[in-house]
Amino acid sequence: MPTTSEQWFARARAVTPGGVNSPVRAFAAVGGTPRFMESGAGAWLTDVDGRSYVDLVCSWGPMLLGHAHPEVLAEVGAAIARGTSFGTPTTTEVELAEEIVRRTPIDRVRLVSSGTEATMSAIRLARGFTGRDVVVKFAGCYHGHVDSLLAQAGSGLATLGVSSTPGVPASSAAQTIVLPYNDRAAVEAAFAEHGDAIACLITEASPGNMGVVPPEPGFNAFLAETCTRHGALFISDEVMTGFRVSARGQWGVDGAVEGWVPDLMTFGKVMGGGFPAAAFGGRTDVMAMLSPEGPVYQAGTLSGNPIATAAGLATLRLADDAVYARVDEVAATISAAAAEALTRAGAPYRLQSNGNMFSIFFGDAVAGSAVRDYVGAQAQDSEAFKAFFHAMLDAGVYLPPSAFESWFVSAAHDDRAVQQVLDALPVAAAAAAA
Ligand code: PLP
Repeated sequence: MPTTSEQWFARARAVTPGGVNSPVRAFAAVGGTPRFMESGAGAWLTDVDGRSYVDLVCSWGPMLLGHAHPEVLAEVGAAIARGTSFGTPTTTEVELAEEIVRRTPIDRVRLVSSGTEATMSAIRLARGFTGRDVVVKFAGCYHGHVDSLLAQAGSGLATLGVSSTPGVPASSAAQTIVLPYNDRAAVEAAFAEHGDAIACLITEASPGNMGVVPPEPGFNAFLAETCTRHGALFISDEVMTGFRVSARGQWGVDGAVEGWVPDLMTFGKVMGGGFPAAAFGGRTDVMAMLSPEGPVYQAGTLSGNPIATAAGLATLRLADDAVYARVDEVAATISAAAAEALTRAGAPYRLQSNGNMFSIFFGDAVAGSAVRDYVGAQAQDSEAFKAFFHAMLDAGVYLPPSAFESWFVSAAHDDRAVQQVLDALPVAAAAAAA
């Protein structure tokens, strides 16, 4: 008897490549049928078969307050009643921009609709501002599906990128230098050789797209300083970490303490409260290059959409110290319990966290020491993760369906939801050990 998710997946595959509108949703890495979700409330998701799951994906980060938060819904409902899109300036987009500027070191911000647009536009702006073309990124850092940012690492230092997907022109990938993360010598060498041509270096403020691989102490400060020394712009991509790992994002964790400021920053996810909203921003002189003030063109029919900005503004206004304290507490409880269950089961693993973002790398190859870059992350045992994932899913816990993703929790994860996760862990740990 096929499940309703299976039936919908068959229908989806007939009309959509792979049956999904974003690849990782397809369960390609873990096998099985993706669950079609019908509703969400707090920490819980319910699928079309009526099964409930504790959600440890949280829409890949945005749902800091949990699903269907009543106050966010009220603001969204009020915004919808006023009309859904005008193509004119509106007051909530100003208020959301003010809230972002208040929490971060940037002076000016431009709202867009996705993280991809934010990074794409930030790079165009950096190229326009510096008059240079080359972009430096790190292997394992994801910045959306921007052509020049899909290049991945070759071997050796400062390898000129090779397109990692058909459809990206070689000429575009050739303008991207891909380096190993956390590798200062590689950064020094790349800037020594190509410094005059480098427009910008873009990095995840704390990577979560190869599993959680935090910057080693002082690494972001080093990147900022290196860029400044060579006249390149430092772009800190906080699409995932922004307003999640702290009220001020990852910059609140390192930059604010160490006293450095990125030239440009990108945001998304939490700042849209579950709607398509993202942003990029930075220094006044750099942002002044952006149209209509300056010559670098950038635009969007739905940029600053009134519903999305109402949801984002409500979310950020509700995200107070108590919210971050609860999210941190839930993450600490679940990650510690997962570690304990895996140790008891005899499954080799490495738990890595950055505040309330965490992930587990499975296998002997990663158990002994820190995973500090993409090569290290790729050494994990994805078969063990698959077994762990499906045991958790069977027990009503929805993990990211890929070993290369952070787990996310929300302030709505109450004790009952946390307990369901804790109860699922021993069986899943045994499955990973088998
Ligand atoms: N940058 C980072 C760090 C991300 O994690 C993502 C998405 O996961 C993006 C950019 C792209 O954002 P979007 O999927 O909204 O285009």
